[in-house]
Amino acid sequence: MRQISACLKLKGLVEKVEPKHIRQVARHTYLPIADYEQFKQHDLLAGIQEEYDSRIPEEAPTEPLLIDEHRYPHLRALRADDEIGDGLWLCCHCRHENILHHYKGRFPFKHLTCNRCKRLLCSECQTTEVLSQLPYGMIHVPKPSDSEEVRYLHVCTNCGLSHRAEMEGSTLDFYGVTCAGCGTSSYGDWPRYHIGSVEPYRRDPDASYARLVEQKAERAANLAHHWNENDRAPSRLSCKNSD
Ligand SMILES: [Zn+2]
Ligand SMILES: [Zn+2]
Ligand SMILES: [Zn+2]
Repeated sequence: MRQISACLKLKGLVEKVEPKHIRQVARHTYLPIADYEQFKQHDLLAGIQEEYDSRIPEEAPTEPLLIDEHRYPHLRALRADDEIGDGLWLCCHCRHENILHHYKGRFPFKHLTCNRCKRLLCSECQTTEVLSQLPYGMIHVPKPSDSEEVRYLHVCTNCGLSHRAEMEGSTLDFYGVTCAGCGTSSYGDWPRYHIGSVEPYRRDPDASYARLVEQKAERAANLAHHWNENDRAPSRLSCKNSD
C-alpha cells in the first residue's frame, strides 16, 4: 500500500514539474532497474487489491436436481444462491449464524470475523461442510486443474482475512505469507481449513442449521458425561482402597 501511495506521489511530482524539466527527464527513455521493480510491484499490488475487492462466486450455481431433492422444492427454489450462500458458521461466542460465501481468488472467504461480536472464527466455532479445520503438518493433495481453485486456506490470526493456500508440487504451502489485510506474517501457524462440498447445505440450508445445533448439544452432553465420569472415578477408587 505504501508503495502505491509512493507511486501516486511520484506521479503528482512529474505532473507538477516545468516543461524544461520534463524534457530533461525525457532523455532517459529506459527506466532504471529500481523503478522498473517498483512498477512491477505496483502491478502486483494492484492485482492483489482487485482480488481483495472482487466478489465472484467460486461455487457453481445450484443444480435444479439438487433443489428437487428438498422436501418442499418450491419453497427452496424461492431462495437464491446469493442469499443462502455456501455454508453457515455458528459463532461459539455469541451464537450468531454467519453466512459463508466462497469467492474466487486468493481471499476465498474474505474476513472470517463474526458479523455480530467481531471475533474471529476459532476451533470451537461450528461450520457446515464448506469449512473444516485441518491439523498442522505437511499435507499432500492432488493438484487441481487449471480451472479449479485450491480448496485449502488459512486464516490470519490478527484480522481474520482468509488466504487461499498455495501449492508447491503436490504439497500445500502455508508458510511465509504476509496478510494482505493487516500486514501480519504467517510462519505456518495460522489455523488451516479444507473447503468441502456445498451440496448438503445448498440442498437444505435449514436442515444443515438444525444439524449444527444438534452437534452442539451432543458435544455439550458428551462433555458433561465426561466430567461426571471423571468426578465419579476417584470416589469409586477411594471406596475400593478403603475396603
Ligand atoms: Zn460472534
Ligand atoms: Zn469460536
Ligand atoms: Zn491480517
